[in-house]
Amino acid sequence: MYKLVIDYHTHTRYSHGKGSIQDNVEAARAKGLSKIAITDHGFNHIGFGMSISDIGKMRDEISYLNQKYSDIEILMGIEANLISVDGEIDIPEKYLDAFDIILMGFHKAVKPATLRDAWILFGRNGLDKLGIINHEKLRQANTSALTKALSRYPIQILTHPGAKIDIDSRALAKAAVKNNVALEINASHGFMTVEYVKIAMEEGANFVICSDAHSPGKVGDFEKGIQIARSAGVPPHRIINSYEYAEHI
Ligand SMILES: [Zn+2]
Ligand SMILES: [Zn+2]
Repeated sequence: MYKLVIDYHTHTRYSHGKGSIQDNVEAARAKGLSKIAITDHGFNHIGFGMSISDIGKMRDEISYLNQKYSDIEILMGIEANLISVDGEIDIPEKYLDAFDIILMGFHKAVKPATLRDAWILFGRNGLDKLGIINHEKLRQANTSALTKALSRYPIQILTHPGAKIDIDSRALAKAAVKNNVALEINASHGFMTVEYVKIAMEEGANFVICSDAHSPGKVGDFEKGIQIARSAGVPPHRIINSYEYAEHI
């Protein structure tokens, strides 16, 4: 039912993936994909975020591979982190143009903009499961931070909405539609859930199914995401990495 031709979310050794850029590209070619994005973790990821000093080297490798292969297009991307309640992400303004595509998602173990942001985004969300935090207030703060980021930055894909923190999926879907951002159905950890996808679909959101591969063998492995999309009844032309979507625009 779904023919997916692009993998927009893959990691390499520039963050904590296992392969090189070339390894991911070869894997994508072997699976017959027409496009792949290299999207290592943002600079503020503690321990394994990509380095600003690697941007030039990564761009050179990607340009070389784009010249070498005529059967695949390679995008230089990043999976940026949310770092403040005001929707800041961990790409300094002057580096926004360094990327062909920007993905953004919520992750823990990230250096926040300020201590206050650390408390709200990481501290309170960490304590949430103990039941001592006003859950609804926290959920709204999480949602507001993410929606602000979508309107502040040229983000094309919101990765794994609902993973790691609770969100108001309807409000987030509305913001995604308004800012032309695709919501990711992540084939590696199964977020968004079928329930979230159904709500976002009602709001008119577009989706993208990504492997979130951390090793070359996983590039183009969309199976778990396809199952979620199928269960939620997402039509192929609403999935931006499908063959049908490309036909549709
Ligand atoms: Zn992620
Ligand atoms: Zn990822």
